Amino acid sequence: MTNLERSLKKKGRRANSVAVIGAIFGDEGKGRITDELTEYFLKKYKRVIVYRDNGGSNAGHTISMNGKKIGLHQIGSGILHKGCVVVLGKGMVIHPIDLLDEIEEVKRVFGFKNLPAKLMVDEMAVLNLDTHRAFELALKSRGQKTLGSQAATGRGISPSYADVIFRFPVRMRDLLSEDWKGILGEHYDLYKELIFGLGMDCATIKVKRFNSEDMELGSKRKFLDSLEMIREELKEYVFPMNEYIKKEWNSSTPFIFEKAQAIGLDSRWGVYPDVSASNCCLDGITYSTEGIVDANDISARFGVIKSTYTSSVGKRQIPTFMEEKYAKQLRDDAHEYGTTTGRPRDIAYLDLEMLRYFCKVGGIEELVFTHMDIIYKRDVKVCVGYKRGKEKTYYRPDQKHLENVKPIYKRLKYWSKEDLKKCERYINIQKEAKDFIQFVSKETGTTPVMVTYGPDRSDTILI
Ligand code: GDP
Ligand code: MG
Repeated sequence: MTNLERSLKKKGRRANSVAVIGAIFGDEGKGRITDELTEYFLKKYKRVIVYRDNGGSNAGHTISMNGKKIGLHQIGSGILHKGCVVVLGKGMVIHPIDLLDEIEEVKRVFGFKNLPAKLMVDEMAVLNLDTHRAFELALKSRGQKTLGSQAATGRGISPSYADVIFRFPVRMRDLLSEDWKGILGEHYDLYKELIFGLGMDCATIKVKRFNSEDMELGSKRKFLDSLEMIREELKEYVFPMNEYIKKEWNSSTPFIFEKAQAIGLDSRWGVYPDVSASNCCLDGITYSTEGIVDANDISARFGVIKSTYTSSVGKRQIPTFMEEKYAKQLRDDAHEYGTTTGRPRDIAYLDLEMLRYFCKVGGIEELVFTHMDIIYKRDVKVCVGYKRGKEKTYYRPDQKHLENVKPIYKRLKYWSKEDLKKCERYINIQKEAKDFIQFVSKETGTTPVMVTYGPDRSDTILI
């Protein structure tokens, strides 16, 4: 039996349930792992549920099929599989117009008449609208006075989540209700005043949209008209999900919980300002399913890591930043440039001090090692702990603390990526690659379950 199979059948846990969690700073390959796990389950089961519980259009999960690829934002990564039900849960913030555009994009890229998977959106999911995006841009335009908002994606994610805390969220079901114009009109007026308070006229702010030019938010009339145009089409996808999830969770249907962003971006465990507003950890699933799925019952909890390095966007100062001559080469080989901005991403050595912490607070029990093909003919440097002066210290989610720590490195032997690409089974992979995997797992108290050595579906070895 493989470690993967064992992880799905832990004693006292709900069999065939797995969470796919970003273990460090995101873009580790959660999308492709979710896609492959969907395929894995569909070999044995007629149906599988891929459930997204956090984030929204700020995510970018790459999946590929027959040489074509797409970066999914709001749609779960099981979408290419017939037999899969993709659920967008209550814990997400969803831009309805972008969602419909994204559905069209999936069909266009892969040449589908209809989506292969069934897509179901929880009527309780919070709306993410152009108003939120305009407000975020207004905050951003204040520049240095609001450093934190500079890190925002412009997708209005944190204002949508803030609506919930401020006690005025607008939800999918509000948009589909009889009184939708009243509710969303009031919402527009509120954001107009908030933005006016920041010294701007909301109507003239240009907001980001999926696959199109930035567009002006415009008047209340324009805002409501744009929503009216999609209400009918949206109805096909929006459902009350509570009973459905309860029934399926109590059946033998496999569940894959595909998390967005990563634990290092969670506002509680990452460092400001480069954090996201949603819950990026295992326990967010309990909230999104209204407690039907107690996240403690989920059998497997996969943390996805880029094996030999970490990439990061933003101001964050990582103790293990790589020397620029090596970082540059790696950046080119692994295409570590911002997808929309083209900006070079920061590159750092794998930091086990940090990863240990993220595994603990994020609920990770297994590791998926992606990007094992990003390897060079020199020792693999891995940070095993921190020092502050002569004393040993530890990771804390505090930028000031992290600026004063010095990493302690261990050097491990490199492996051959050509060799790895020839292996179909874990037992056949090179000793050096195995030693690396075993070392990282032991140091973090986790079990290794998968290795990938390229972005395609077949570039995977189960452990
Ligand atoms: P996610 O946000 O965690 O789903 O990850 P992204 O899709 O944003 O980023 C992962 C990137 O790495 C994508 O461009 C993938 O095609 C690519 N990728 C995934 N796995 C591998 C791998 O094993 N090796 C290489 N070289 N690239 C990979
Ligand atoms: Mg991504």
